[in-house]
Amino acid sequence: MRLAQLPVLLAVIGAALPACTRESSRPKNVILVSIDTLRRDHLGLHGYERNTSPFLDRIGRSGVAFDQCIAQAPWTAPSHASMLSSLYPSVLGMGRFEDPGHISDSADMLAEVLADAGFRTHAVTSGGFMAAKIGFTQGFEIYDDAGLNMETTVERAMQWLRGIREDERFFLFLHTYDVHKYKPPASYHATWVAPYSGALAFHDRIADLVQNHEEQAKAGALDDADRRYIRDLYDASIAATDDWLRRFWESLEQRGLADDTLLVVTADHGEEFWEHGGSGHGYTLFDENLRVPLIMHHPSLSSRMVPEQVRLLDVAPTIATLVGAERPSSWQGESLEGFLSGHARTLVAFSEHAHLPAKSARTPHAKLILAASEPTRSFFDLRSDVLETTNLLGQLDRATWRPMADGIERWLRDNAADQRFRSGKRIVFNAAELEELAALGYVGGTTGSDIEDPDLDVWLKILAEER
Ligand SMILES: [Zn+2]
Repeated sequence: MRLAQLPVLLAVIGAALPACTRESSRPKNVILVSIDTLRRDHLGLHGYERNTSPFLDRIGRSGVAFDQCIAQAPWTAPSHASMLSSLYPSVLGMGRFEDPGHISDSADMLAEVLADAGFRTHAVTSGGFMAAKIGFTQGFEIYDDAGLNMETTVERAMQWLRGIREDERFFLFLHTYDVHKYKPPASYHATWVAPYSGALAFHDRIADLVQNHEEQAKAGALDDADRRYIRDLYDASIAATDDWLRRFWESLEQRGLADDTLLVVTADHGEEFWEHGGSGHGYTLFDENLRVPLIMHHPSLSSRMVPEQVRLLDVAPTIATLVGAERPSSWQGESLEGFLSGHARTLVAFSEHAHLPAKSARTPHAKLILAASEPTRSFFDLRSDVLETTNLLGQLDRATWRPMADGIERWLRDNAADQRFRSGKRIVFNAAELEELAALGYVGGTTGSDIEDPDLDVWLKILAEER
């Protein structure tokens, strides 16, 4: 493009955009926070009865909160990879705990897009399945995966921000396992954890117990008090994380950065608390695993709770649009800019995990889950059965759910046809990293099935059987 054409083109683009994204009010900077394992329905903003999240509630209510944001995978590595590359996990070839896969260098990561647009870029994550070696580093000047907890994560982020000049734009990505770990600071116990003297009181690896079902079996049957204790630790961890985020945001306000910064807070997946018999994450495609918070806050965004369904896949395109960066053609998600100002359309959310293995299609009204093994093929009417307790497959006319099956087929065919983003690289963890993953419950447990994610032909056969 000739430079002389640029002002004319920008003027045309500016006229077509809603007021919130005109050049004058575009966010200068971006901070994306992923609170690993945070369920949407444990936030006050979304109706939780405990006051776990006063800060997130405040920024969610003064900004834009999405009521139905669906993750594309129910666990850390593939879900974050999908969020940050706007590609589905199977397009990246990512999936199993024991072999999470590596993000291809061909993927256009959000940090690369923003770096190309002139942003300084920095990440602080808690390692584990967010370790640099999985390929998350692309586009970041520094990818620091040694953020032990929110306290050190915020300290490291603030240290980096002190080196940013006033005329520079920045993209900061923060990730924390503090909610995943079930180890809230002791000072939060009195308020959040009911008196408990059961067998788990001195258990020092609750995350392993929740996530690793072999460990849970060793502990014996958990009674109501044990489960309550586990949920209390989870809520206490949310409250502590919310406090750290509030302090972080206040320090940005003191430095005069908050009004120039788009703050996006989300999670890679939720957590099961025995709603469908199990606990932890990564084993099913039910909403307690897939439905996550998504909050966007900037002075240019009008306060709004968006009821329509959106996807983590859409986070990167939305951020790119809001800051005026160019969207790569490889991205499979869509910008949610229209949703921010009330103009929305239905986006079907496809999700997948390689453990069962299973694929799902979700609309705001229904979900179809297809697994490679019985009996987990299911259809739920989310209007009357939000908890997904009654499998209607076999009871309903096939015409009811066939469009969703057709959608899964098109999605699988599209994904299988595009092999550009599969690195095929196997990640090897060293002993210290394996211990870190074991403490999170990711090593030595069952993963539901030994079946590898089948080829397209097998999925098409399963789809044909269901018709
Ligand atoms: Zn995670």
